[in-house]
Amino acid sequence: MLEESEARERILEAVSPGPVVWTPLDLASGLVLAQAIRAAVDLPGFDNSSMDGYAVRASECVTGAELQVPDESQPAGIDRRLVLQTGQAIRIFTGAAIPEGADAVVMQEDVSRSGGAIRVVEGVKAGENIRRRGGDVCAGQLLLGAGDPVTPARIGLLASQGIAEVPVFWRPLVNVVSTGDELVEPGLPLAPGELYNSNGPMLKAAAERAGAAASTAWAADDPDALCEVLTRSLESGDFTVIAGGVSVGERDYVKEVLNGLGVVTDFWRVRVKPGKPFLFGRHTGGALVFGLPGNPVSAYVTFALFVLPAIRKSLGYRVDPARGGLGEFRGVAAEEMSNAGDRPHYLRGVVSPDGVKLSGTQQSHAIFGLSRADCLVRLEVEQSVHAGEPVTGLLL
Ligand code: AMP
Ligand code: MG
Repeated sequence: MLEESEARERILEAVSPGPVVWTPLDLASGLVLAQAIRAAVDLPGFDNSSMDGYAVRASECVTGAELQVPDESQPAGIDRRLVLQTGQAIRIFTGAAIPEGADAVVMQEDVSRSGGAIRVVEGVKAGENIRRRGGDVCAGQLLLGAGDPVTPARIGLLASQGIAEVPVFWRPLVNVVSTGDELVEPGLPLAPGELYNSNGPMLKAAAERAGAAASTAWAADDPDALCEVLTRSLESGDFTVIAGGVSVGERDYVKEVLNGLGVVTDFWRVRVKPGKPFLFGRHTGGALVFGLPGNPVSAYVTFALFVLPAIRKSLGYRVDPARGGLGEFRGVAAEEMSNAGDRPHYLRGVVSPDGVKLSGTQQSHAIFGLSRADCLVRLEVEQSVHAGEPVTGLLL
């Protein structure tokens, strides 16, 4: 049985970012740039006013001075190429081009207007209220580097440069396959002995939150049905995530079906609780295969530990193999916690002002506690902590 860290290293070794695709800017949020981007134009693109007021010569615009206002004003959005004459003040608005000859803008609040003239109440210094061409960004300057994530603010920056498409790493498609005769899709009636498929929607949402595209499918516990669904999944997606059927039950056909479809198992079983029967393999066609235990808590935790880092690396994010794609936390236990088992145990917890508390019952089918958890507390074999003692773990 592999250690968790080795399992994650082997998975990450099998993942490389890409391919690179030119993507419309409005679809690039959360993706990662594959190439550096330089500024095409200066920002601002021309000297312009940062205030509604009057374009003036600062040397003339002293307290008490009277300046004549010509009829033609300078609005934003069109450069009227006005020229400021001696003794004049040209009406101007925020974002409008500075007329030739002007070297400052006096705010409208700092003058009193009567008819075709203004009297200056508060003078200005040269350069005041003017946003200079190139004052923010100069053409040719490096804006973003390869490996930088496309954040909302960076989308704004790229748009301000007139850039409509960016070279980013491909958003991987994760096909989630839920297996089990007992499963019923939410919205349909349940017969005795059946239960709703919670893994499918949960893992799809987790894959999407990680930045992937995702689909769901279901297969019965039947080799032919599994074969058909898995064939489609392996051919159409980058990752196939199978929930259930990977353990040692009589109706757990996933491993043998994968084998028959040309999936080479890299490893099966990891020394971690929950999640022992986790499987990782590679299809000859290139898709990576993750087999998750069917119990929803186990499925969620193994997704977070092993699938999420793979998605992040595939997207081009830097992933630390030691902790995967999750943030680490150090806190204090608010209650006693212990691990009497033979594998490291991730307990579902809630970070509170009094320390970390356990989030309800810790059994691997108990989805209510999982739904309230915001962290996984890691306890080593035979480790026990008392209230007030330090604990470490991962943030969900
Ligand atoms: P398995 O790994 O297939 O043996 O499933 C382990 C347990 O998880 C069984 O009690 C299943 O009924 C349950 N289970 C499997 N798949 C799902 C699912 N998609 N949603 C909810 N429970 C599931
Ligand atoms: Mg099953």
